[in-house]
Amino acid sequence: MKNNYFNIEANSELELNIIKVGHGNWNEIRSGKTRIFYDTGADKRWRQLSIRDLIDTMDIRNDHDIHIVISHWDVDHYHALLEFESKHFKRIKSIIAPSNPPKTNTCTNVIQLLKLNNVHLEFIKPVSVSNGPLKEIKLGLYRFDNIIDVYRATNTKNRNQGGIVLLVKGKNCDALLTGDHHYSKLYKYILNGYSNNDKPLIFITPHHGGYAGKWDINNWKQLNIREVAISYCQSNPYNHPTRDNLSKLITLNNGNVSCTTRRTLNYLL
Ligand SMILES: [Zn+2]
Repeated sequence: MKNNYFNIEANSELELNIIKVGHGNWNEIRSGKTRIFYDTGADKRWRQLSIRDLIDTMDIRNDHDIHIVISHWDVDHYHALLEFESKHFKRIKSIIAPSNPPKTNTCTNVIQLLKLNNVHLEFIKPVSVSNGPLKEIKLGLYRFDNIIDVYRATNTKNRNQGGIVLLVKGKNCDALLTGDHHYSKLYKYILNGYSNNDKPLIFITPHHGGYAGKWDINNWKQLNIREVAISYCQSNPYNHPTRDNLSKLITLNNGNVSCTTRRTLNYLL
């Protein structure tokens, strides 16, 4: 039984790769030749050559089907697309991103490049969520199937919190791919009602383990978190992850915190 957007066999094991991209984000969910990229970003400071090397290591082949989800329009989450070649664009089967992209050069160039390569970029509008305080930025389900639940934020001008989150449902383990959304919203609107809690969860920290709002560690401790993964570069100008967040993340699952400073992280879900 497939029954999902990506045409992946249900109950099959999925690979999760947290790519080493410096202080940025590129996660991958993979099932054979079907590859879902959650962000295609890299460190803002990386130049053309480093990004081309990165794309080479991704080894996108002629028989691969690529689906891309851009979590939000911050450069470190999508600018590797600028170095995709025509052979890579040809493999893109779908690409979604939050609506209202900023009018910056990088963003305009990426949108233009997709158009030139006949790749249809689908803008996902904010969802409406009826419960919770009126002014609060919330997350609501945009699309779901037996492999991935796609969450989108409600209307906001806040770019970090106005994006797309993925809850990936593997055979033995789930994963939350968070972009730069705040811990408190991820908990309140996704994990609090999360019913699969007999399966462990791999939690990719928001905003590179750094500044993603205040959070109540006691709520999070109730969750069955197998591993915490941080996508960041040790020598970043923001001092991510903050000492407070790191100590909280370490207590979350008895110290299983991994990061991409030395290598790409691979998991089997
Ligand atoms: Zn970021």
